Amino acid sequence: EAAALSRIGLAGLAVMGQNLALNVAEKGFPISVYNRTTSKVDETLDRAHNEGQLPLTGHYTPRDFVLSIQKPRSVIILVKAGAPVDQTIAALTEHMEPGDTIIDGGNEWYENTERRIVEANSKGLLYLGMGVSGGEEGARNGPSLMPGGSFDAYNNIKDIVEKVAAQVEDGPCVTYIGEGGSGNFVKMVHNGIEYGDMQLISEAYDVLKNVGGLSNSELAEIFDEWNRGELESFLIEITADIFKVKDEHGEGELVDKILDKTGMKGTGKWTVQQAAELSVAAPTIAASLDCRYLSGLKDEREAAAKVLAEAGLKEEVGTVRSGIDKKRLIDDVRQALYASKICSYAQGMNLLRAKSLEKNWNLNFGELARIWKGGCIIRAVFLDRIKKAYQRNPDLASLVVDPDFAKEMVQRQAAWRRVVGLAISAGISTPGMCASLAYFDTYRRARLPANLVQAQRDLFGAHTYERVDRPGAFHTEWTKLA
Ligand code: NAP
Repeated sequence: EAAALSRIGLAGLAVMGQNLALNVAEKGFPISVYNRTTSKVDETLDRAHNEGQLPLTGHYTPRDFVLSIQKPRSVIILVKAGAPVDQTIAALTEHMEPGDTIIDGGNEWYENTERRIVEANSKGLLYLGMGVSGGEEGARNGPSLMPGGSFDAYNNIKDIVEKVAAQVEDGPCVTYIGEGGSGNFVKMVHNGIEYGDMQLISEAYDVLKNVGGLSNSELAEIFDEWNRGELESFLIEITADIFKVKDEHGEGELVDKILDKTGMKGTGKWTVQQAAELSVAAPTIAASLDCRYLSGLKDEREAAAKVLAEAGLKEEVGTVRSGIDKKRLIDDVRQALYASKICSYAQGMNLLRAKSLEKNWNLNFGELARIWKGGCIIRAVFLDRIKKAYQRNPDLASLVVDPDFAKEMVQRQAAWRRVVGLAISAGISTPGMCASLAYFDTYRRARLPANLVQAQRDLFGAHTYERVDRPGAFHTEWTKLA
């Protein structure tokens, strides 16, 4: 007797794959699973059994796996990005037929997806590159999904992904992103924005702790409070929780025992590289990436601290200001964080817009903000405001000039400048907040000192310049006139 065929398949049963497969099964869609190392198939079967007899079948060869899925087949792949995806595709497509679909759910470089789309199409197969955000928890209980590629392939799985995705008041956190590698690209920029958010939060922490002298319990309280206001978000919420966790190996809280060296997997770097490629300024995201690099130089930083102390760096640099108005500082930092965040999102959205124009993806920015409202790491109440800004004006040049955001930034700029100024005088680096403020101050100025740069370029390289008062390109023999 032939077993009933599954509605969909999933190959790659590490953290993300296992949890997403269980999520799909829990929503009532029978799913087949497969993993190169077969012990993970058994592990997943055990979990499906223990979590309520979920409709999930395990398969131990690519052939059995593929043949267990109903046609046209949709197969999600969740393996390490890069060559493992190509190897998995090769193993599976041997048994697939025209009309079937491959869906890569990994953090893949978008051009790899575009190459694989061409390869898949040559075999009559459809292809989706689907960004998945939300980590383990999101995968299991509702991620934000960013599928791009074949629209037909999307329609084949629309009913499934709309159930599996996180649900917010204005719908499931999934939408068809666009053609080609757009789904992966959007996920990449989402991760770049995530770098920015995390950096800005760490700077707020640094200022409150090292300038304001706040304790971990005070910080926990402040972040809990912030999570009930305009900053309400997953990252603020988990930060409050982090400050509460005691160190099981000693005195105090765990956060103080963690080595100050940040790891990374590459999507932040790709975001900054793409911004440079497309001539889009993304200074807050770049500052976040730079900070991760500098954090990695722990030994060098320790040595530098010593050399500069011996060179006479003043003691008061980097110490708590006495007599500081804590309440005022906390309120200022909250406002500085919010305003800095707007600039960071403006950079990310403008990078997406530049890419969308280059690739003709026709991205819907309001929809992107909407599907990030739930499931993913950057989920925040604030994203609803971004959604509305783009609904008001789909051609918005920058979030900075949306009338609502413009008002909010102007209201917060005094506090923002106080925090950055205080941090600078205290020797506490706030590269993300500074980058955001400089971005704001540069973007909003009708006239910049770029006239001087143009004059220099014309002097040494005859690059010519334009004038403010008449059309045309001009060149001057500067040295003869000086
Ligand atoms: P991972 O550690 O990136 O990858 C492990 C999986 O890849 C295992 O199933 C492994 O199979 C398989 N694999 C590796 N090389 C292979 C090869 N040559 N052939 C076949 N299979 C191979 O797993 P993950 O953390 O679950 O992430 C999966 C994808 O989702 C990645 O692209 C990741 O960047 C992305 N992602 C992860 C998160 C997260 O929070 N972890 C969040 C969003 C997106 P074996 O068991 O046989 O070794």
